Amino acid sequence: MLVPVELGGDGATVSDAVDVCYMLGMACGSSAMIFAMHQIQVVILLRHAMNSAWHQQLLRRLCDEQLLFASSTTENQMGGAVRSSACAVEREGSRMSLVKNATVMSYGAEADGVLVTARRAPDAQPSDQVLVALMKGDYELEKIKEWDTMGMRGTCSTGFTLRGCADAGQVLPESYERIHPQSMVPIAHLTWSGVWCGIAAGAVAHARRFVRKGAAQANGGQAAPGASHLTRAVMSLRALRGTIAAAVASYEKAALNSDRLEAIDFQAGMNLLKVNSSEQAIETVLSALQACGLSGYRNDGEFSVARNLRDVLSSSIMINNERILASTASSLLLFEVPALVRD
Ligand SMILES: Cc1cc2nc3c(=O)[nH]c(=O)nc-3n(C[C@H](O)[C@H](O)[C@H](O)COP(=O)(O)OP(=O)(O)OC[C@H]3O[C@@H](n4cnc5c(N)ncnc54)[C@H](O)[C@@H]3O)c2cc1C
Repeated sequence: MLVPVELGGDGATVSDAVDVCYMLGMACGSSAMIFAMHQIQVVILLRHAMNSAWHQQLLRRLCDEQLLFASSTTENQMGGAVRSSACAVEREGSRMSLVKNATVMSYGAEADGVLVTARRAPDAQPSDQVLVALMKGDYELEKIKEWDTMGMRGTCSTGFTLRGCADAGQVLPESYERIHPQSMVPIAHLTWSGVWCGIAAGAVAHARRFVRKGAAQANGGQAAPGASHLTRAVMSLRALRGTIAAAVASYEKAALNSDRLEAIDFQAGMNLLKVNSSEQAIETVLSALQACGLSGYRNDGEFSVARNLRDVLSSSIMINNERILASTASSLLLFEVPALVRD
């Protein structure tokens, strides 16, 4: 939906994509997260590979054939250290190859292609990274880890050894050092926030129906059971939606200005959005659970929020909040406390 009409897409905006993440998240967190992860890859191709004929053709194919793209950043024991790779691109003539210990790769077995982070060359530093677009025929996957998790089970984020071999032109022309701050961080954090907010909204919808049913059954004048918890859930959902809407607006204002996207305060804002959204989405679902009581705690029944809770708990560990807070701390010291509310 984000690909321009001239290349066969719908020409939608990032805020449209975030809305779809939210809508899908209300029904199914995993479906929403798969949609979100694909959109991140699309924005990266659009922003950082449009001057490459191969990647432009790929975007046309993506629309014509409705291809689905996965992402492989996580590797070995490095966990969420996205700006560091062990895997390296090896070039031989016009060809390249790589082997990656991709310990978490959502819908890796189902995707039609994957964008993989790797070091530029075997002698490059861990942070000297490129992104490679590999199509299904370009790689083999050997399963190394199952995805038997508490939630987000439908993302099928299995671990694989990924062995790829492709044309050297499939390496994106821009370095990952630029792609990460300009696209990966903002689009991931905006779309993921949309997903988690949607999961929270789904739980609030259950709580609302539960409390309405309770109110209808209660004797006149009595407060419906769980009503105050529902109020709390609605309050935190409203705050979360406001936070995300403001962040989307700030991205769209900055989108055409690479320097602005890479500015320290913009990056800090996008990183803190991720931490804030995940904490607030969890808090919202917990309030919805309290509102529904045992009916919410049950795995069965129309008021169960068990899956919402299990899914939303992935938010704080998907690039761990502690990691983000630690890396953002020093940059925040550079800024004075704003003088105005709307600063
Ligand atoms: C639903 C889901 C889908 C995913 N899909 C994909 C995918 O498609 N592709 C992909 O590549 N990856 C994917 N991931 C993985 C994700 O991107 C991260 O790599 C992963 O969540 C990191 O998890 P970790 O806990 O192993 O690692 P880490 O982030 O390294 O955290 C490990 C531990 O170290 C602590 N820690 C780390 N750094 C610090 C610090 N600076 N200060 C204090 N404590 C710190 C954390 O608190 C945590 O306890 C997915 C994850 C989830 C949950």
